[in-house]
Amino acid sequence: MQYALVNDERREPFPEGKGKCDICGAEAVAKCGEKVIWHWAHKGRKSCDPWWENETEWHRAWKAEFPKSYREVSFQCQKTGETHRADIISERGLVVEVQNSPISLEELRSREGFYKNLVWVVNGAKFKTRFDIAPALLPDPNTPEFDDIVFFSSGAIAGRAFWRKSENPEALNRPGQLVRVRRAEEIEQSIKDNYVGHHCFCWTRPHIAWFEAKCPVFFDFGEEFLWRLESYRDQFRCVRAISKRKFVHDVMVEANATNIATRFYPINNSFHERGT
Ligand SMILES: [Zn+2]
Repeated sequence: MQYALVNDERREPFPEGKGKCDICGAEAVAKCGEKVIWHWAHKGRKSCDPWWENETEWHRAWKAEFPKSYREVSFQCQKTGETHRADIISERGLVVEVQNSPISLEELRSREGFYKNLVWVVNGAKFKTRFDIAPALLPDPNTPEFDDIVFFSSGAIAGRAFWRKSENPEALNRPGQLVRVRRAEEIEQSIKDNYVGHHCFCWTRPHIAWFEAKCPVFFDFGEEFLWRLESYRDQFRCVRAISKRKFVHDVMVEANATNIATRFYPINNSFHERGT
């Protein structure tokens, strides 16, 4: 934990520090070694919150993006009294969980059910080399202009070739039908004009729990952009680039997790400049 109660005040760890866990009231001792991130630990036992991860620099960097009052906030279920410590809760009640290690489907569902208004930020550093984002741009899937177009989403032609439903009406429902493959270059300008960050991806040995998430999932590969896991016209999974700055801004102002990175204002539209 980054915070414990010392004389009823939330304090960061300090050498020889002693305090209390704000959830269970147990004694917390400050761990201020050279090799560990300075943190508070429950004295003589594990954390009272089974969902709590050992903190890394990555966790701390994310928390530091938000005001101190948003970080490590206890969240109690009104019905059951169950309490957990959320990484970040905004003033409007939006919860951000920054997740470093793989998560089981069971725990993912428990945490989504518990927090409800939740968004995941997943550390992609460990699987970055297995996560290929196709360079080809995909147009905004909500653009009616592309209703007739089906992109190929895997292999070397991911996002670089398509076929038209109107030319092969049978093929949509009957896999294996021959389709006339067209190159994306044919509609290149139109794709560029409607690009809002979507790309195909190929994830070798994926952590499939994330595919089952009901709450928005953003992968952080240590770049300026996060990649939101999305469905492309219910045809295949894709990712969409969102600038970190936009994400942080939206967590602060939006009331609902599903609205993050859905509304764009001229000033914060920086992802449009990507790749140009
Ligand atoms: Zn505790």
